[in-house]
This record gives sequence, structure tokens and C-alpha cells, in this order.
Amino acid sequence: MTPQDYAHNFAQVKQRIKQACLQANRDPNDVSLLAVSKTQPATAVAAFIALGQRAFGENYLQDALPKIAAHPDATWHFIGPIQSNKTKPIAEHFDWVESVDRLKIAQRLSAQRPTDRAPLNILLQVNISQEESKSGFLPAELINAAQEMALLPGLVIRGLMVIPAATDDMAAQRQAFAQVRALFEQLQTTLPQHPIDTLSMGMSNDLEAAILEGATQIRIGTDLFGARVKC
Ligand SMILES: *Cc1c(COP(=O)(O)O)cnc(C)c1O
Repeated sequence: MTPQDYAHNFAQVKQRIKQACLQANRDPNDVSLLAVSKTQPATAVAAFIALGQRAFGENYLQDALPKIAAHPDATWHFIGPIQSNKTKPIAEHFDWVESVDRLKIAQRLSAQRPTDRAPLNILLQVNISQEESKSGFLPAELINAAQEMALLPGLVIRGLMVIPAATDDMAAQRQAFAQVRALFEQLQTTLPQHPIDTLSMGMSNDLEAAILEGATQIRIGTDLFGARVKC
């Protein structure tokens, strides 16, 4: 991939966001783009920073750390599965964690967030398709868990993240996203004193459906960076 390829992909994804917002009667400025740079080299991150991109998503701690060190002014979101023995470096190096999927992880992130940094922004991951293999809170347990996490001083709850079961059927995509949006609104009502403003849903394959159902952040890897390098 050349810088020209990245510029082309970037313009195309921006255009898809604009088009979906037009269809949804939404302001494109209300949908932020998270560039998912997992497995990609620091040079690819640099190319997108040169294009004006600021927020990057990473799934693997060891893969992410050198890129964060090279670009400390970008905003870094951890979006992968979290093992409890990795919470400390995650709490130290990231600005957001979108894949909080159990209370114990939230407690550790809060306790390990350095006190000289702002509280860590977190999203609760929802297992909306209720797949055995997927991480995330089940819809029925989400609100109780959020109420407990709201008491943790090192964190700020900002909203929800979801990866629904993969499907090319847009009606099915929209149905899953609509369920997450309903939970998001329930969370806002339950925790009115918290800045719950981020609904992270939609990837390369389903960003249009997500925007139509109210996503405020989409997470795009493949359609920006090309196919992933094996990690
Ligand atoms: C890899 C990944 C993405 C990006 O997926 P693409 O289909 O490559 O756009 C988004 N969110 C999460 C949580 C991911 O792990």
C-alpha cells in the first residue's frame, strides 16, 4: 500500500460516511472515524496522521506499544479482548478501552490508571447476538454492571461497543444495531450524571447500517489499510 492508496481509501470511507449520514438525515460531524491499525506498521499510522486522522484502534498490546510511542499525540483506543494480566499497560498507555467485558477488568483498569492522567474512557462491549464464542455483556446484565462501574474513580463510562454476528443482510445488520441503540438510550437514562455519548458500532462491512441506526463512532480496518498482516 502506498500513501496514494491510503489517501484514496480514506476519501472513499469519508464519502461512505457522508452518504449514509445523508440517507439517515444526520450530520457527518456526529460520526467519528476510528482507524483500526491492528497488525499495520507505524508507517501506515503516520500516513493516516498526515491525512488528518487522529484516532486509532488496536487489538494487541505488544503490537500497539511501539506505534503509541511513535505517535503519542494521536488518540489510542484498545478494542481487543483483554486478559487480566494485561490491564496495567493498557491503563497506562491508552486513552480509551472499548472492549470492557466484565466487572473485574473495569476494577483493575480503574485501580491501575495513573493518577497523573485523566480518567480512562471506557465503553462496555455488548454481546448482542448472544454468541457463546463472543465476549461482551449480555443485554440482561449490562445495566447492573454499568451501575457498579460508574462508582470506579479511574474510569469514565462513555457508552457501548458491539461486534454483531457477521452477516451481509442489511436488514439483519440494522436489527442488531437497533437493539444496541435501545440499550444505549437505557444506559443514558440510568446514568444521567455520566457523559454517555459514544455508540461504537459499524466496521468495513456494515458501516452504513450502523450509521442508519445511530452509531456515533465507526471502526474501520480493512477498507482503510487493506488486508491485515498476520499477527
Ligand atoms: C478488526 C476490528 C475492526 C475493523 O474491522 P474491519 O472489518 O477490518 O473494518 C473493528 N472493530 C474491532 C473490535 C476489530 O477487532
